Amino acid sequence: MADAKRTKDKRRRAKQTQGEQTRGERSLIANIRQRTRSQAGNSALVLGIGDDCALLRPPKGEEIVVTTDFSLENVHFRRGWHPAESVGHRCLVRGLSDLAAMGARPQAAFLSIALPKELCGPWLDRFLDGFLALAEQYDVPLAGGDTAESPRCSKSNSARSESGLVVADVVLLGSVPRGQALLRSGARAGDIVYVTGALGGAAAELRALAERPAAFRKKDSAAHPHLYPQPRIAAGRKLVRSHLATAAIDLSDGLSTDLAHLCEESGLSAVIDAQAVPVHPGATLADALDGGEDYELLFTAGAKTAIPARLGGLGVHAIGRMADRGRRPPVAIRTSDGKTAPLEPQGWEHFRTKR
Ligand SMILES: [Mg+2]
Repeated sequence: MADAKRTKDKRRRAKQTQGEQTRGERSLIANIRQRTRSQAGNSALVLGIGDDCALLRPPKGEEIVVTTDFSLENVHFRRGWHPAESVGHRCLVRGLSDLAAMGARPQAAFLSIALPKELCGPWLDRFLDGFLALAEQYDVPLAGGDTAESPRCSKSNSARSESGLVVADVVLLGSVPRGQALLRSGARAGDIVYVTGALGGAAAELRALAERPAAFRKKDSAAHPHLYPQPRIAAGRKLVRSHLATAAIDLSDGLSTDLAHLCEESGLSAVIDAQAVPVHPGATLADALDGGEDYELLFTAGAKTAIPARLGGLGVHAIGRMADRGRRPPVAIRTSDGKTAPLEPQGWEHFRTKR
């Protein structure tokens, strides 16, 4: 009898928990939907959150550009360091920056997020504050996604279980006039290499954040190149409209690594001038070369092409030149004494053996 009662109680509790979870997820989605009601009405999005799929109608004469990025707790952010608003902002900026690199206009964002139950309240609200503020700034509606509860991770040697991890996957769709997307593969030998803005600020701020996370808890009006970087959408679209660039890439992994990617895709090499690299105030040349996450644009243009001093409100700097591959290192750097040395890709790379 007692066994039957225990089983019945257990079933009732399981049913209750299931109900709570369902209600939890439903109210969570309802909350997200409510918050997205007033978002960008002039995008390609015809139907957003609420149906089985979103519906998009690409602008006439344009093609669709798609990018996806994982953001993993303890890899791309730390809960103890990054305010929740910054985590939301940074999840979205990565894809927006990829769209900027192709010269695309953002059209719709999709967010799939797994998180532990205890973060479903204020933490998630603040995450969405950061995500949706950036989405609004760049006129990109949140058009759908998925949510899941992240399970607790149990430590193998103890009964204690730890909070589950936050994992967010963001898919971004953009559009670009047909056949005009900026590619990594279009550079030609003799082209000049340009970058927008200043480099290394994100690495310098990350260092400061790691030392004193408490100093960064509140969002202020100062520029925060690591916590709240900006995608260079306007500069990318201007490059497409003006037909100035031969190739482009965004600086997400670091100049040394991203320029190597562009060289690889274009089948060329590049030499950059150390003195010409625009270093962010407070950063070092090493931060600028290898730091990553600056989300500035790197592009190439013919040596005779007149490039404006500013693009989309940003300073533009010529930092080097493309050359044939030959036996040269993919990327080399010329220092102030006139000597040239290979510049190894030292930026971010997953699955790489630690140096
Ligand atoms: Mg990229």
